[in-house]
Amino acid sequence: MRMVMLGAPGAGKGTQARLVSTKYGAVHLSMGSTLRREVAEQSEIGRSIRGTLSKGDMVEDGIVNMIIENQLQRYESVILDGYPRTLLQAEHLDGYLKEHPPVLDVVFLLELPVESIISRLSGRRVCDRCSKTYHIQFYRLERCPCGGRLIQREDDNPDTIRHRMEVYEAEIQPLRDFYTRCGLLYPIDADQGVEDIFADISEVLDDTILPQI
Ligand SMILES: [Zn+2]
Repeated sequence: MRMVMLGAPGAGKGTQARLVSTKYGAVHLSMGSTLRREVAEQSEIGRSIRGTLSKGDMVEDGIVNMIIENQLQRYESVILDGYPRTLLQAEHLDGYLKEHPPVLDVVFLLELPVESIISRLSGRRVCDRCSKTYHIQFYRLERCPCGGRLIQREDDNPDTIRHRMEVYEAEIQPLRDFYTRCGLLYPIDADQGVEDIFADISEVLDDTILPQI
């Protein structure tokens, strides 16, 4: 099974991808975590993208395309989270998978109103060790159970969030159109609890996608 999880920052893509990974046994490939790990390890890629990431801008296509191809060579069953983010990336991925099948089976789009996104993101804290996310509205922890510190990501402050939303709105429409034309797109209402979102995703997978594979 090869799937893409699309959605605004804060819509819960990472959480849903982890749940799908656990239930269906596909590998969760998070572009955000991969890029942040490169920065933390101060690799060559990490040093070149640090400024771009902290401004909330997008890392250039050549770098993310290369990262994803390396990962797709290692895993057959995957959930792509944070990639593709542009039409160019989606077309690149499409071409790559046609030469290196299997191709995509499904694309989920987690939909959420802008006001909900801003309130979710500005209260978000991330464990600096295991990358699990928490929200200050629901959790009052000092530390993650794994021992890591809960920090606000550099790109989760209100100004950067507004900028990221503008970037997102401009990029999602062509992606939505592209995957609709491919017959792969399934919009999911993300303005509900984590369990309910996951139930909607599972229903599509169990009733429609898996019987075709
Ligand atoms: Zn942790």
